[in-house]
Amino acid sequence: MNLVQVVEQLLQTDGGNITAHRHLPAKAAKLVPFPASTDPRLVAALRERGIAALYSHQATAATALAKGRHVVVVTPTASGKTLCYNLPVLNTLLSDPQARALYLFPTKALSQDQIDELRGLVDAMDVELKTHTYDGDTPVTARPLIRKAGHIVVTNPDMLHTGILPHHVKWMRLFENLRYVVVDELHQYRGVFGSHMANVLRRLRRICSHYGSEPQFIFCSATIANPKELAEKLLGEEVELVDDNGAPRGEKHVILYNPPLVNRQLGLRRGALLTARGLAANFLANRIQTIVFARSRLTVEVMLTYLQEAARQQRLPAGAVRGYRGGYLPLERREIERGLREGGVLGVVSTNALELGVDIGGLEAAVLVGYPGTVASTWQQMGRAGRRRGASAAVFVASSNPLDQYLVNHPDYFFSSPPEHGLVNPDNLLVLMDHLKCAAFELPFGEGERFGVETTAEALDYLVDSRVLYRSKGAYHWSSDSFPAEQISLRSAARENFVIIDQSQGARVIGEVDRYAAPTMIHEEAIYIHEGRQYQVVQLDYEEKKAFVEPVNVDYYTDANLAVELQVLAEDAGRQDRQSADAHGDVRVTYVPTIFKKIKFDTHENLGSGPIYLPQEEMHTTAYWLTLGEDTLAGFDREQIQSGLNGLGNLLVNVAPLFLMCDPGDIRVACQIRSPHTGRPTAFLYEFCPGGVGMSERLFRLRDDLLQRCLELVRDCPCEDGCPSCVGPAGEVGESGKAAAARILSRLLSDGPR
Ligand SMILES: [Zn+2]
Repeated sequence: MNLVQVVEQLLQTDGGNITAHRHLPAKAAKLVPFPASTDPRLVAALRERGIAALYSHQATAATALAKGRHVVVVTPTASGKTLCYNLPVLNTLLSDPQARALYLFPTKALSQDQIDELRGLVDAMDVELKTHTYDGDTPVTARPLIRKAGHIVVTNPDMLHTGILPHHVKWMRLFENLRYVVVDELHQYRGVFGSHMANVLRRLRRICSHYGSEPQFIFCSATIANPKELAEKLLGEEVELVDDNGAPRGEKHVILYNPPLVNRQLGLRRGALLTARGLAANFLANRIQTIVFARSRLTVEVMLTYLQEAARQQRLPAGAVRGYRGGYLPLERREIERGLREGGVLGVVSTNALELGVDIGGLEAAVLVGYPGTVASTWQQMGRAGRRRGASAAVFVASSNPLDQYLVNHPDYFFSSPPEHGLVNPDNLLVLMDHLKCAAFELPFGEGERFGVETTAEALDYLVDSRVLYRSKGAYHWSSDSFPAEQISLRSAARENFVIIDQSQGARVIGEVDRYAAPTMIHEEAIYIHEGRQYQVVQLDYEEKKAFVEPVNVDYYTDANLAVELQVLAEDAGRQDRQSADAHGDVRVTYVPTIFKKIKFDTHENLGSGPIYLPQEEMHTTAYWLTLGEDTLAGFDREQIQSGLNGLGNLLVNVAPLFLMCDPGDIRVACQIRSPHTGRPTAFLYEFCPGGVGMSERLFRLRDDLLQRCLELVRDCPCEDGCPSCVGPAGEVGESGKAAAARILSRLLSDGPR
């Protein structure tokens, strides 16, 4: 059978489990001739690669850049995004060999891919343009030449922060002549990482201005709700949005699949893994090139074993089905990528490692085992199936996770405009102060000079008082011998990090976790996930800030329960009606971990628990809170109030990531039956990050949408008294949790949206 026949058969046999099937029709390319200003050598090199014209979005980006604008390009996977920046950059370099460009990618693997593509184009033009990666792997002997003569330097934000900006004197040629800065995978720069990134860009532009250059920025992003806002927050300037995708697309079938219930009372479903492997095996049996995305390394391994066995039975050649994940050697990865492009590899099982820009061509089918965590990622993974011509299919198989269940049961929401906001807070005080130090180390601050915030002078005076800076002749100078950037990780908002040490590899440090997250992430017996691999914490040395881990393969993750005391410090905004009041503001959270639970990946069953013994921590952060008025709770007894509030809290914290593009655990809930601040039953959603990144304020603004989704989730869940897919199991939230939470929500929304 061909792909369309396989899809038709699936719709017939499994119709009862398919909650949505959309047929996206084929779309012709919108082509535009190369701008007249394009260098003939570049045009010839592109023609040689089969590119005879530009897609409309590539041309729009080029026009905006020619007018001197910064741009953000938002188009789907495989729409020729890289040409949006390679074309203007190469065209400029061809006419001005002194000009320079800097490319920033969030990971090293992506940098490598870009270099290959760029070099291919440069070689085809037969010109002297040097493109280099500059990261931790760059040999020391090669570095001086790259600094002096590299036309395009490809690096990552961490290297820019510690390896380039502090040594700007050595990079004079780059900074004097920097014309373009490319920031790809913009949507990755959100939360704490994005807040750091905004400050790294502030430092970059400050140094450029010192050397007399003023580069234009080209951002590229996956589809999110607010790409223009995010780019402008990162840059601190207006950015033009380019989103008129002109790339062609073959017809595509998108299917949402909910495995059948096996225990209605407990809300247990057949596993997503079992379901997905049947679907994938069927595609492969029909010789349809397929990619399977799984969430953990273990799931990849289990799926791979099964599909390889199925391939043997089908008499497919050895090596027809491969695995792909972080931790594979680069050579092996390149070989698999080539096999996919050329067709020698028929099936691949991958973690999200293949979600990003690595070129593997277009496959015919994609099967997603569980929700990748954001709608943006879901579309990127589904976009791996898709060809310029011919049909493709993508199937999302839901797990029992509340977000999976929400999406699979509300397809209109999934197919409508992207819901997720990438949020950053460049002025988070902890993050800002860190980069103010780095910036002062790089160049003294002049009187009245501004670094993002209006209160720059106050912040600098504070650093003078703490003897980090000194004042002389109207400028602020760095006063210490130390080197600030090295102490500052772009991945956390706090200092005093705990290091994670893999004992199995001769005590190799594999990662860091900040002090605030340590009690929940690296308590003893916790499962710590790093680059898709699972490790178990064997020992936590709290005094020395070291966690010793060993690699494991288990089918669960761990989640720590916290005993939380939350105190409101300041209310930034609030509103009130008869049913409820809500507000957002600053809070102090004191927390101590009590127990951890082992939760099964696929079904979210609780597999057991254990105690945690660690000292109390305190964090200042921001929160959004919802207070239930008397009318809302009319007729409720004490038990119903308590379990209704618990259920509501769980729904809110489960649904919030649908709007925020954050990881579970970045936002947490604390319920107070009689809150000292409000005097009423109140659910607090607080950001688990010192200072916050703006999520609380966004939740305050999205209140009605948030409550509406919570109501839909709980109302449409087929369980009887609560389950892990909605309010949580009755045993944890209370007997009437599900019914009470649903009643509270419908009363909160009954006055209509405001
Ligand atoms: Zn349920």
